[in-house]
Amino acid sequence: MNRVLILLSFVLFFACKEQPKQTAEAPIVATTDSAAENPANTFGLVIHGGAGTILKKNMTAEKEAAYKAKLEEAIKVGHTILKNGGTSLEAVEKTINVLENSPLFNAGKGAVFTYNETNELDASIMDGSNLNAGAVAGVSTIKNPINLAREVMVNSPHVLLSGRGAEQFAKERSIEIVDPSYFHTEDRLKLLRKIKNKPNHADAKSATSFYDPTIKDSKFGTVGCTALDKYGNLAAGTSTGGMSAKKWNRIGDSPIIGAGTYANNATCAVSSTGWGEYFIRGMVAYDISAMMEYKGISLAEASKEVIQKKLTNLGGTGGIIAIDNKGNVAMEFNTAGMYRATMNADGELTIGIYKKE
Ligand code: ASP
Repeated sequence: MNRVLILLSFVLFFACKEQPKQTAEAPIVATTDSAAENPANTFGLVIHGGAGTILKKNMTAEKEAAYKAKLEEAIKVGHTILKNGGTSLEAVEKTINVLENSPLFNAGKGAVFTYNETNELDASIMDGSNLNAGAVAGVSTIKNPINLAREVMVNSPHVLLSGRGAEQFAKERSIEIVDPSYFHTEDRLKLLRKIKNKPNHADAKSATSFYDPTIKDSKFGTVGCTALDKYGNLAAGTSTGGMSAKKWNRIGDSPIIGAGTYANNATCAVSSTGWGEYFIRGMVAYDISAMMEYKGISLAEASKEVIQKKLTNLGGTGGIIAIDNKGNVAMEFNTAGMYRATMNADGELTIGIYKKE
């Protein structure tokens, strides 16, 4: 009898023991079993590097080539990971790292300046296999905020950390820290000073600030990636410096799960870019997933409806990139341009900048 009791308590102990936290190296659902969810064994990814009034007439051939080359370099990193059987989370993180490390984009190295001439970065990541998510907001010393967002997801009981607390957590988890001056780039500083010299720049509600293209597009270059891996798992991530001349520790949509980033294996993975306040109010990323789930419509239809109708009617500008659980992608925006690229399982690459290429 005693032996039965001991055995029973052992069984109960192990059954009730908390599941180990997901580690960066050991994906939760990437087993051969879940390949059944993705019978086509297909995979793919799509990225953005920001949306706005990106016009060919304002672009030099060199600049255009530099953006395209960086987008291609980034997407190939993610594609190689997926092709070799890596997870969508890994692909999203590593792809975003390439863009964060480039001064071309408003994320990581190229982050825009706040009104006080500092840099405050935001990022988030989501795992569509279990709806785990991690995010950081207002960090000034984290070289790759997307890595910290993933660390929050995997190794903390929280979803969103901010400011100094997030940086303390980063130190404890050995995430790479840099001096704030790492983010100081001349181009971004010039942009800030240009905005500061404009009348009414600080009044977020003023028509001048809203319609002035320099200010409206002062946030160009947020980066994002969504991916489907061979195991049928979706992931999404977004990283940004936010909006130039932002004040009062303003936080946009990029670190807000459901607004800037969302992933659910049942539907799709989405990363947003644009005027963040509208994306928060419209819960844009989640709305696309919800429309697919509740209305049974395709990713293309849901993205079109949310960006071209709902966001536009609200007065918001920007776009999304998304991939569904079959590998279909959407790159929908209501601005003149959006830096974007996608690559499918066959390695076919599509890169775009303007509405009409
Ligand atoms: N959505 C970002 C923000 O509002 C900026 C952008 O995507 O361009 O912070």
